[in-house]
Amino acid sequence: MAVTPGYPATLRLEGRRVLVVGGGRVATRRIPALVEAGAVVDVVAPDASPEIREAAATGGVRWWQRRFQPRDLVEPEPAWLVQATTDSPAVNTEVAEASEEQRIWCVRADDAEASSVWTPAVARGADGTAAEGLTVAVTGGADPRRAAAVRDAVLAGLDSGLLTVRRQRVANQIAPVGRVALVGGGPGDPGLITVRGRQLLAAADVVVTDRLGPRGLLDAVGPDVEVIDVGKTPRHHPIPQTRINEILVDHARRGRAVVRLKGGDPFVLGRGGEEAIHCVANGIPVEVVPGVTSAVSVPAAAGIPVTHRGITASFVVASAHDGATAALDALRDAPVTSTVVLLMGVTALAETARRLVESGRPPTTPVALVESGWTPAQRTTVTTLAEAAEVAEREGVRSPAVVVVGDVVRVREQVGDLVPPGLVADAAPSLVLLAHGSPDPRHAKGVEKVAEQVRRRWPGHVHAAYLDHHSPSATDVAQRLEGGVLVPLLLTTAYHVRSDVPEAAAAMDALERGHYAVATALGPDRLLFAAADELLSRAGFAPDPHTGVVLFAGGSSDREAISTIDEAVGDRPVAGWGPWAVAALAGGDEIDVVADRLRAEGAQRVLVVTYMVADGVLRDRMVTYADKAGAEVVPGSLGETDALADLVVQRAGEAVATGR
Ligand code: SAH
Repeated sequence: MAVTPGYPATLRLEGRRVLVVGGGRVATRRIPALVEAGAVVDVVAPDASPEIREAAATGGVRWWQRRFQPRDLVEPEPAWLVQATTDSPAVNTEVAEASEEQRIWCVRADDAEASSVWTPAVARGADGTAAEGLTVAVTGGADPRRAAAVRDAVLAGLDSGLLTVRRQRVANQIAPVGRVALVGGGPGDPGLITVRGRQLLAAADVVVTDRLGPRGLLDAVGPDVEVIDVGKTPRHHPIPQTRINEILVDHARRGRAVVRLKGGDPFVLGRGGEEAIHCVANGIPVEVVPGVTSAVSVPAAAGIPVTHRGITASFVVASAHDGATAALDALRDAPVTSTVVLLMGVTALAETARRLVESGRPPTTPVALVESGWTPAQRTTVTTLAEAAEVAEREGVRSPAVVVVGDVVRVREQVGDLVPPGLVADAAPSLVLLAHGSPDPRHAKGVEKVAEQVRRRWPGHVHAAYLDHHSPSATDVAQRLEGGVLVPLLLTTAYHVRSDVPEAAAAMDALERGHYAVATALGPDRLLFAAADELLSRAGFAPDPHTGVVLFAGGSSDREAISTIDEAVGDRPVAGWGPWAVAALAGGDEIDVVADRLRAEGAQRVLVVTYMVADGVLRDRMVTYADKAGAEVVPGSLGETDALADLVVQRAGEAVATGR
């Protein structure tokens, strides 16, 4: 039988009389919370526990040493709440019935059914955590243990930051002193951040990220948290370190909790030290949360321990950013058996390998090149010092990668990759990238380019398929595969995503050749704005606060789909630029209207970038409209960018992880 639900509420007991009948174990346990809530507590009981006697002696409660009488409910003044806690069901019944008559709420400890009030399992969030100021109260009907278990789980989630519940800013609150936390995010897997790191992320008002910070963690931050991407990509304008330092201090000065989220460990070739010095010099409280450094963890993921009994007892970590010199300096006094771990080592690999040989390491020394460790695109190439450069070139090895030099690389032969299932290269599922079709051949060509980029990052097979106009269709592709991941190459949340994609997936599954996990569509996402920024940068436009950017979406008859993108660009998603806004062919404003709006917001120059995966007739129309609006067109489409390919791999990885 369904139980009529109760009505949860919090009683404000300050100065109000609460009658506790009984002086035993239950009463002793319940009284402190009543006292803490400010209630005037009267105890009626022939006998009382030492705690209650003590409280009565010091004035915390009043104790009438006798049996309950119904007039206790109303004398010396009416009670607001009664607790029937005796170990006699008969007395408790008497108390409950008399209370009911007087319309006073009564908690019966021994019989929930007969009780007019249920007390929840309660916990309060600890100060300094994301849960600060929160009360968690859970009722579980007749099962208090279950309620307590749920409460504990909620509390643990809040404490660890797995549940993100930040304090929302209160308008008239005095700005608290801000602070900065330099948080190591680990090498890429969201599971490899520390508990402290997660807690601070959950409580952050502002998160300043890097390209290498594990982006999966950002999904957990609330929509009103400002995320500032100071990531540096090849061919991308780096935001100078001095500017990053200023950003941290500026936001902390405004009273915000700032998390500087970094890949790996903040103090291992991460410039975290400079950021800490700058904060301290400006009087901003700063803490560091160490992270799992890629220098050790990425080789580990590939089954390579940096030290191994019988092989070597030491390892040297060096940056190869400026060539081989740092590594050679570090190795000067190290034993020749020492493992060499090079970060940022891809570009100068030829020089580094040659100079390591010149300095006495045998040309046959094993070398492992581990790319994108702890991500679904992890790939390991094993070679030797003599051949490393040539092999890396041939295999298209790209950053980020850790280069490991030494006999420890051979341990991999015995253990292989040591990552959780789902990240294992051999088992990597096929990807089907599902795009809109267009009669324009340039469109399919663009989609193929995306597939090409993704192939370099994803160890399984990668195919393109189309929703309309073009073959192959999703089912055509699925005929040749045995399940995998379907990633919609769609940039909005409109009906294509809502209905066509599930339909395509169902048709693929119906072939009964294997299941398809369906990834979330690409947009709107911060990485798409980073993709637009990449196009801007390739075209030679540097960020400028007086330049506004219009993203031009092909459009949808669904106004809501366009407005979600509009909202996402609302707070200047890419550092350094003036305002951003969205125009669309259908379902949104036209370029001239949007351009005028940006000018009204102070933009002296307006640039237009496509919010489309590939070139085609829609992009041609964009050029015409942009001309009319007096705005400049930025060449290229989002599908040509690294950021978009990264996003596809991220979406696919999420779908694998959740198994949807
Ligand atoms: N503070 C970071 C290192 C920053 S230097 C840490 O402690 O890990 C950046 C270099 O780290 C990259 O060029 C690459 O060599 C390495 N790196 C970081 N994450 C990586 C990953 N997931 N896979 C492979 N290499 C990675």
